[in-house]
Amino acid sequence: MKFIFHHKFLQHDTGMHPENARRLAAFRDLSDKNLVMDLEPILAVHDAGYVEKVQRYAALGHPLDGDTHLCPASFDAAVLAANATIAAAESGDFALVRPPGHHAYADYGSGFCLFNNMAIAAHDLVKKGYRVAILDFDGHFGDGTDALCADEPQIMYCSVHQHPAFPHKGSYRDIGKGAAAGTEIKMGLPPGTGDDVLFVAMDFIYDVIDAFNPDIVGISAGFDGHIYDPLLDLRFSSKSFYDMGIQLRERYPRSFAVLEGGYNLEILPQCITNFMAGMNGEPCPFPSESTHSTIQTREIVDFEMYDLRRLLLPYWSL
Ligand SMILES: [Zn+2]
Repeated sequence: MKFIFHHKFLQHDTGMHPENARRLAAFRDLSDKNLVMDLEPILAVHDAGYVEKVQRYAALGHPLDGDTHLCPASFDAAVLAANATIAAAESGDFALVRPPGHHAYADYGSGFCLFNNMAIAAHDLVKKGYRVAILDFDGHFGDGTDALCADEPQIMYCSVHQHPAFPHKGSYRDIGKGAAAGTEIKMGLPPGTGDDVLFVAMDFIYDVIDAFNPDIVGISAGFDGHIYDPLLDLRFSSKSFYDMGIQLRERYPRSFAVLEGGYNLEILPQCITNFMAGMNGEPCPFPSESTHSTIQTREIVDFEMYDLRRLLLPYWSL
C-alpha cells in the first residue's frame, strides 16, 4: 500500500479550524499523483444541484455550514480527493486526502466533509461488478456514507465510533432495510473506550464482514479515536492503528483506504504512519503502551454486540 497524495489537498484553506492543512504538513513532500478531475462518479452519488452549490460557494469562500468551511481552491481539492479515492480503490492504496468525506450526504455537506470520497469509490466499484465492505474506524459515525450506501445490497457499511458524539445519529438497531437488510453495522463505543474493547468490537466486525464475503474492503481511516485527540473522548493508542493495519492486511488482501478525521496535529502523522506500516507488514514506527477501558465500558459494548448479533442472525451466519 502506498500513499496517493496531491498538493492541492493542502490548498483547501479552512482558516482557524480543526480540519486544516497542517494535518497533512508532515506529508507535503510526497509527490503529486497524476489524478483526473472526473465529475461523473461524484454525480453518481451527489445531486447535481449540490455539486454546483459547492463550486459556487467555494468560489465565494462561503461556508456550507458553521463547521464546513470553503475557499476558492476547495472545489478542486474535493473533486481531486474523490478521484484519488477511486484511484486508491483501483490500486489498493491509501488516499491521503483533504477534505474528508464520511459526513457528506447526497445533497448536503457537513462535519468538514464536501463530497463523500468513500461512498463515491464504493459505488464506482459496484458499477465495475464488485461487492464492497466499508470499514470506518474514524471516531465519529460516518452518517453520510451510511446513508449513501443504505440502499445498495452490494455495499456493507461497518462503523466503530464513539456514542454519544457528533453527528448524534445512528442506532446499532438500524441494520438496513429491504434487499440491503443486514448491511449497516454501527458499533457505538462509550466515551473512555480503550484498545482492549476496541479490538473486541473489531473482532465482531471482522466476523460480519467475513459473512458478507466482499471482493474488496474499503477502509475509512480516521484517527480521532486517539486518546489525545481534541474532538472525542475515546482512548485508542497510537499502536492500536498499527495493530489494526496488521489485522486488516492479514484478513483482507484486497483493500484500500482513505483519510477521514484525526485532529491532534502532532499525533496524527504518527497514527497514519503506524497504520500504513501495519498494512505493509513493516515494524511499528511509533510504538506505544496499550490503553484500557473501564469495566462498565466493556459491559455496554458486550450487550450491544449480543443484541446486534441477534438482529443480524436472520441475514448472516455468525
Ligand atoms: Zn471523525
